Amino acid sequence: MDIQMVDLKSQYLKIKNEVDAQIQKVIDTSAFINGPIVKEFAQNLADYLNVKYVIPCANGTDALQIALMSLDLKSGDELIVPAFTYVATAEVIGLLGLTPVLVDVEADTFNIKIDEIEQAITEKTKAIVPVHLFGQSAEMEKIMAIAIKHNIYVIEDNAQAVGTDYFFANGMRFKTGTIGNIGCTSFFPSKNLGCYGDGGALFTNNDELGEKIRMIANHGQNKKYFHRYIGVNSRLDSIQAAILDVKLKYLDEYCNLRFNAAMYYSEHLKKISGIKTPVLSKNSTHVFHQYTLIVEDGRRDELQSYLAKFDIPSMIYYPLPLNEQEAFKSISKISGNLENTYKLCSSVLSLPIHTEMTKEIQDFIIEKIILFFQK
Ligand SMILES: *Cc1c(COP(=O)(O)O)cnc(C)c1O
Repeated sequence: MDIQMVDLKSQYLKIKNEVDAQIQKVIDTSAFINGPIVKEFAQNLADYLNVKYVIPCANGTDALQIALMSLDLKSGDELIVPAFTYVATAEVIGLLGLTPVLVDVEADTFNIKIDEIEQAITEKTKAIVPVHLFGQSAEMEKIMAIAIKHNIYVIEDNAQAVGTDYFFANGMRFKTGTIGNIGCTSFFPSKNLGCYGDGGALFTNNDELGEKIRMIANHGQNKKYFHRYIGVNSRLDSIQAAILDVKLKYLDEYCNLRFNAAMYYSEHLKKISGIKTPVLSKNSTHVFHQYTLIVEDGRRDELQSYLAKFDIPSMIYYPLPLNEQEAFKSISKISGNLENTYKLCSSVLSLPIHTEMTKEIQDFIIEKIILFFQK
């Protein structure tokens, strides 16, 4: 049995005809950069998300950087970020000479801990950057209320949660990434909506920000050779847009397949004492970008090695809190304690999950995990 964390090859084979035809179409027209398909895909994604502007760019990290560049921030300004996330979220903050203020995450959902946010706010705070980690929304209603009260921005890192729905108490439903001032996403191949290379996008409902983001992503120009801002060169190329436009049609199906695989795991693993299966948030759907267990009693690494003996891959997202990373030691600040972050870094283990999971593969993995805890 060939078990992979993500099986992109089998997924491709099911849509090969459509994808190949769309790639060929781009090649036939030679519109490799900013071809019509880039606009078409952006519009289709905007319709799917129900957001006014989708501005494609070169990758998810660029999306975050461009978002921050559009906010007129100055050196020393502070942005509140969870300490338990992928490096890109905080890296762009450091890159622009801003200060990441790291706060803890919730022990069960792994998302930014709401009770820690207000304490982290100072007169230098300009934004909160929640991450919808592993495919589940942070508590956006509460985050938005705090942001409005303190007049600061919310930039959503939606790289792991394209397709996720968040529900407000009044029943209103929004796609993650469209609730804050700006949403950022990545189309890295293994993401839920992934292309066959690098790609990313920003979302906003704000006209001014939409226009400015579009300019910044394109050398700060409004008209060709007229530059209003210092910008960057960050584009989604036409071939990637063509692939994404095909895959967007399957996104809901892909999210359901991941969700069903996750529920199958949980059904069989939840009774094992020694592990905790993922907790579903009340106000969010879950698209299971990752299926992440908490392994108790310090046995995480042992379980990982055990599974590896049977060629079952697993990953540790993430092994080190951001404040412990060499690059962040001198530029970041910590607010409150990072108790849950530290616990998670030493106990999380993500199992293979993707759109091509079979019962056979899952049963094999489940069987080995059960065996491990019977040892
Ligand atoms: C993948 C990811 C990014 C960065 O995306 P790239 O396209 O790889 O630059 C940013 N934040 C989070 C949470 C991610 O998972």
